[in-house]
Amino acid sequence: MIHMKIRDAACRGCRFCVDICPTDALSFDEATQKAVVETVEDCIGCLSCGFICPSGAIRHEGHHVVKNFYRNLYFSRRMEKFL
Ligand code: SF4
Ligand code: SF4
Repeated sequence: MIHMKIRDAACRGCRFCVDICPTDALSFDEATQKAVVETVEDCIGCLSCGFICPSGAIRHEGHHVVKNFYRNLYFSRRMEKFL
């Protein structure tokens, strides 16, 4: 069973994690301007959200470690302006 945690204090509301998730397991709370875990059951443990997050706000536990096909360095450079 995968467990996910998004640290609210670290989330800066960029939505990268929501946009990159292939299973729509995450959503964005407009009221708080924070990402939230919508349906952890839909998470396939690809870790893309944790990789793309410029704040390192997302943590996973209990997932299988697999080669992440979203780890494209060209795409990742787009987040440099947030660092
Ligand atoms: S990628 Fe990180 S900082 Fe951006 S919305 Fe998601 S949790 Fe927040
Ligand atoms: S690990 Fe992958 S499937 Fe799970 S919430 Fe993050 S982007 Fe979505």
